[in-house]
Amino acid sequence: MNLSVGLAQVARRAPGNPAILWDGGRLSYGAFEDQAARIAGALIRRHGLQPGARIGMAMENCPEFLPVLYGIWRAGMTAIPMNAKLHPREIGWILENAGAPLCIVTPKLADALGGLAGLPPVIATGTADHAALLAGEPVTRVAGAPAGPAWIFYTSGTTGRPKGAVLTHRNLTAMALAYMADVDGVGPEDIRLHAAPMSHGSGIYALPFVMMGAQNLTIDGFEPETVFGILARHRKVSFFAAPTMVTRLLNHPAAGAADTSGLKTLCFGGAPMYLADLERALALFGPRLYQLYGQGEAPMTITHVTKSVHADTAHPRRTDILGSAGFPRTAVEVAVMDADWNELPPGEAGEICTRSDCVMAGYLDNPEANAAALRDGWLRTGDVGVMDPLGFFTLKDRSKDLIISGGANIYPREVEEVLLRDPAVLEAAVVGRPHPDWGEEVVAFVVARPGARTEEAALDRLCLDHLARFKRPKAYRFVAGLPKNNYGKVLKTALREILSGEARP
Ligand code: AMP
Repeated sequence: MNLSVGLAQVARRAPGNPAILWDGGRLSYGAFEDQAARIAGALIRRHGLQPGARIGMAMENCPEFLPVLYGIWRAGMTAIPMNAKLHPREIGWILENAGAPLCIVTPKLADALGGLAGLPPVIATGTADHAALLAGEPVTRVAGAPAGPAWIFYTSGTTGRPKGAVLTHRNLTAMALAYMADVDGVGPEDIRLHAAPMSHGSGIYALPFVMMGAQNLTIDGFEPETVFGILARHRKVSFFAAPTMVTRLLNHPAAGAADTSGLKTLCFGGAPMYLADLERALALFGPRLYQLYGQGEAPMTITHVTKSVHADTAHPRRTDILGSAGFPRTAVEVAVMDADWNELPPGEAGEICTRSDCVMAGYLDNPEANAAALRDGWLRTGDVGVMDPLGFFTLKDRSKDLIISGGANIYPREVEEVLLRDPAVLEAAVVGRPHPDWGEEVVAFVVARPGARTEEAALDRLCLDHLARFKRPKAYRFVAGLPKNNYGKVLKTALREILSGEARP
């Protein structure tokens, strides 16, 4: 089903129910449907676009985001939500790569994109052109089939140029149903808070909430005080956060006295969450944490650690499970494959692969990347992992982040987990540096907690106590912060570049 049909159904049944909330306002389902239907009409008639057109969205989190997204779908067109923090040139590159004839933006983005040549027409929210979009002739019949493209998700491009993962309506419907099967039932009183960018996981998690006639609360920018304020004022609030956002909440001075009683579920994922941080998060939020492992190519839905598993303090394997990415999601196959495409038994490390209705149709116009990523209906994630005999999957690292020293594999995450045991360490990232004899050697970048001092000798001792000798860092770099991409993921490529720019001692 085209996802915008679900919106029409809710709007018919409960037009007065709140759909979109923001500081100082709310839009009902009836008004949301009306806006989406009119936007669709304006795209077709005013802008002369055909079903199948790809429409860029360079928008910060805002109440206009969902009506634009559903309006694009109602018109049978495909949305390309982009991170608002991308460089204008990167946005320009994506629009060109996708052949987008139009891009809808928020005012800040309109200014940033202003000077760029070769862009398609841009419509900024709040302008007369946006008002004209909202005044289109409503479209109530949807063009396009469930197998048609809905959302082109450009990968975060931690290596090379981003690739456009084409997600169909069926992919996103399967994702939404899996949310209901695995995370929570959703009803009209539920609120999805969009604290993380709606161009990514948070926006994708709006879909089950619209499908079920629940509420979407948008805030512009992630500020711990705002999040804590919302958790104190509202009930049944669920939100998605990257692990770096969770640690920002934990480290905020307001955390100690925060009233988090309004929280229903904090879904985290997108990058590893270290055990020490997870335990602190459980202490602050209670057993309302849900971990998901997914990627743009299989959005939000490969494996998970449910709330009940987080709560099960008596489980004999609790620490192992919490340190893993968990069990396969409902109706999702997950396997570990070797380089020759044989499925590996439990305990052996290989590439994590997944097959389900959530797996993308393919990368846009990129047969080479498709041949590398898709095989026999399976998606190769590029993540290295191991399945435990109990059926949960532990992610070792991205295959490209693996360090090979003296022929032995070293998984950076294992070393990082040990460094984070030092209470003075706020963040740690471990990468390989080319070494003439060993191939690579381990180098650790360490950020100290404010006011604390970290000592190389203490960290080395800690590693010797917990790790094989060859895994411990041979050098440390104490830095003020780690380079991160716009979704808060540490850019190991940038760390490796820093090392390659240094003169060797
Ligand atoms: P993206 O496509 O930007 O969402 O990035 C997906 C990648 O993030 C995955 O392939 C993993 O490497 C990483 N990732 C996602 N979820 C988790 C998780 N729960 N634990 C560890 N890494 C994760």
